[in-house]
Amino acid sequence: MNPSVELCSYPELDDRIVIVRAGDEVDAVFVRTERFNVLIDTLGTPELCMAALDLLEAQTNARPLIVINSHMDWDHFWGNAAIVGRAPIIAHAAALDRLGDPSAQEILRDKASQESRFRNVDLIGPDITFSGSMTLNGGDLTLELIHTPGHTPDHIAVWIPELRICLAVDAVEYPIPEVWSKNADDLRLIRSSLERIRDLDARLVIPAHGRTYSPSAVDKNLDYFQALADRVGSLSESQVADPQLGGSSDLRLEDFVPIPDGMPSDVVAFYRNCHETNLGATVQAHIEKLKFA
Ligand SMILES: [Zn+2]
Repeated sequence: MNPSVELCSYPELDDRIVIVRAGDEVDAVFVRTERFNVLIDTLGTPELCMAALDLLEAQTNARPLIVINSHMDWDHFWGNAAIVGRAPIIAHAAALDRLGDPSAQEILRDKASQESRFRNVDLIGPDITFSGSMTLNGGDLTLELIHTPGHTPDHIAVWIPELRICLAVDAVEYPIPEVWSKNADDLRLIRSSLERIRDLDARLVIPAHGRTYSPSAVDKNLDYFQALADRVGSLSESQVADPQLGGSSDLRLEDFVPIPDGMPSDVVAFYRNCHETNLGATVQAHIEKLKFA
């Protein structure tokens, strides 16, 4: 079953920005400017995206719609089919590599075999892609699309300088974000993307999961990766080679961030998995450091 879609806000959030919430699954964001409207992400199915467009109809007036895919993770773009014929879709050029990879269809087949709501999902790619950065000039508001790789290679965050709001999507996450792979290069990318977001000095930082909006989430994510690097950095070569390393008593998720009270067990399992990948990448970075020391 699809979760239900609702429109939400946060304290101090400008009323030109609306959070489009699909239950606990993911948040998309709608931004109304003088010249056009922007929808950042299309949720996990075309039905969810249609429900969002219906709810937003009162807000859209006659302005054209532009859609952005923050990255090609299923919960952020599988609703794209609902957009075809209505609006152009913009994404980073690296999104095309991900869509062209056989794993994109494999994930769809997997999820469709588990849940019927995914059986009529079509993988629809972006109409417009860019490298580096892109700016949408809405008149009263500017949307700067910033390439923030590390969670995924194609990830973009949106910076609205007039309001000092960063729509960080999955580059920032509570309690922790997840690096793309156990590769040291991806770890460097996710940390430098977090630093880039921190350096924006935003008033509000709005991720797509976890329902937070305080910029302190960025510092907490950076502190987490630093603590992980410090802890792993104190290990010897033989200790890091131990395949049971992740189970050791001071390297578990809860040794770095408190697990929120009442978090459902499947969500805790999800973040343990994220932590496992982050730990793997940190170990890899440490091994490379030892090798070249
Ligand atoms: Zn996500």
